[in-house]
Amino acid sequence: MIVLGGGVNGCGVARDCAMRGLRVLLLERADFGVGASGNSSGMIHGGIRYMLSDRKVTALACKDSGYIQRIAPHLLFRIPFLMPFASKRDGATLAERATWYATEVYVGTYDQYQPLKRGKPSTRLSAEDLYTLEPGLRPGLSGAVTLDEWGIDAFRLCTLNALDAEARGAEVRTWTEARELLRGPGRVEGVRFRDVLTGEEGEARAPVVFNATGAWSPGLARRNGAKVPMRPGKGVHLTLDRRYSNYGVICSAVDGRQMFLMPHESESIVGTTDDDYYGDPDDLEATNDEVEYLLEGAASLVPGVRAARVTRAWCGLRTTIHAYGPNEDALSREHQLHDGAADGLAGLLSFVGGKLASYRAQAEEATDRILSLLARPRGTCRTHEVPLPGGDEVLDPARLAEGGLVAAPVAARLVYRHGSRAREVLRLVEDDPRLGLVLCRDEGILAAEVVHCARHEKVRRLQDLRRRCRVGLGACAGVDCARIAAQLAGRELGWDADRIRAELADLLDQGWRERRAVLDRAQLAQEELVRGATGLLEVPW
Ligand SMILES: Cc1cc2nc3c(=O)[nH]c(=O)nc-3n(C[C@H](O)[C@H](O)[C@H](O)COP(=O)(O)OP(=O)(O)OC[C@H]3O[C@@H](n4cnc5c(N)ncnc54)[C@H](O)[C@@H]3O)c2cc1C
Repeated sequence: MIVLGGGVNGCGVARDCAMRGLRVLLLERADFGVGASGNSSGMIHGGIRYMLSDRKVTALACKDSGYIQRIAPHLLFRIPFLMPFASKRDGATLAERATWYATEVYVGTYDQYQPLKRGKPSTRLSAEDLYTLEPGLRPGLSGAVTLDEWGIDAFRLCTLNALDAEARGAEVRTWTEARELLRGPGRVEGVRFRDVLTGEEGEARAPVVFNATGAWSPGLARRNGAKVPMRPGKGVHLTLDRRYSNYGVICSAVDGRQMFLMPHESESIVGTTDDDYYGDPDDLEATNDEVEYLLEGAASLVPGVRAARVTRAWCGLRTTIHAYGPNEDALSREHQLHDGAADGLAGLLSFVGGKLASYRAQAEEATDRILSLLARPRGTCRTHEVPLPGGDEVLDPARLAEGGLVAAPVAARLVYRHGSRAREVLRLVEDDPRLGLVLCRDEGILAAEVVHCARHEKVRRLQDLRRRCRVGLGACAGVDCARIAAQLAGRELGWDADRIRAELADLLDQGWRERRAVLDRAQLAQEELVRGATGLLEVPW
């Protein structure tokens, strides 16, 4: 079978199908996670928001979140959220107070799902508790309830699924676009593809094509005479240069939509918008308007964010199931498998909707369907218990740092991203101590990590290292790490000097596109610095 798209659904299905004995080809036209998956909020949550309308979605996501913790324990991090209440001094009416009580009951109901994902039950905080935990909140709040959730590095989640699929026999090709579906009488017979880096073209034949091309899916279907109904929704996030809160804080935008501010590694993330999108998915960019909307909402509870340097604005398209009428944020987050048979393309299955947090269950359902289309027995799905690469053991970073090869924070970062494979990264430093160099002061990226990813994680372009180990993603926008990472990757991948320069320019351009909407005067100066410095720095290799 052929999987189109290396987002979480494509990579998840490739892994499950490979584990259940199918011959799999996965084609991703860029790199793993570049679509909605890597640009999501990265919450492996239950979606408390959907509890009223889509209880099934909440239950499924909570259950699958528990399984994802089991197979990738290193990659998840806890995010306790605070849901603050306004005070009487702010003029709360009886109705508003009733809303607080309803919220407590609502969150209390969500508590019954928490054990599925090792979440802690909610707690009611007094105003005093609240300000002790989160002193940066605006004055005048009367308390809060807590909500326990989990986050993940979604780029790595996609990559690990793809790497595991490959280890189980799948052929995985990144930077390879499916250009056209091959048709036989009444059915799909394969795809014609093109490697966008080498220009190589080819055909692959299979009785089932699983279309997991996300927001690109309706276009791909249309070009091939089929329909995939979808209502894509644009979601923008901001990254702020440092932590502005100790916990996740749930706030309201000016129009009452729920949004959040949360600490993430050494930064903060503000998210997210949700607006219908009719444009070309390739032209997706945040606007100044959206940036201001998000900052206003976050500042309404944490005024300090107004002093923040916004380092980037990044966006993705939700692949929501089509419905005419409801507001974007009221649309169902359920998923569907759309069968191409009605359009004369039997064997084409397109995935629509769903959640990152339920990706494993979605992949299990899709694989069951694929096996039944192939008239093969379902076998046993084991993706809920077989660890993803590096997920077999949770290493203690302090012990890893004891050998003196790396500092404890760098070891912690390696364990978070690579799990038990952090040992392999450190072995590179043992062999060549120069690879113990920390490339980025902000992100703690190790030279050995760049080499490890370039060797073992299907890196074909320098920008792939943004997603594998955050090269160029820190607050310094690549001043420290980009050039050295380019040299290291070039050495591993056999790039000549021109290719290294081109890759570097491309990486910096990616960053520029995410900064364009957030630049002010001081940041324009920073932009000049980045472009100048990355062209001038001396590198030790
Ligand atoms: C702003 C935002 C926030 C979100 N937050 C959360 C959250 O916190 N928790 C949660 O559970 N869910 C969240 N979601 C939903 C979740 O991200 C999506 O449900 C999920 O990532 C969709 O994955 P996918 O693989 O279907 O699509 P995508 O990740 O978009 O993958 C599609 C892939 O197909 C590739 N492709 C396109 N055309 C072709 C072609 N012709 N040939 C080959 N490849 C092609 C693309 O390059 C892309 O990599 C969020 C979504 C958004 C947009």
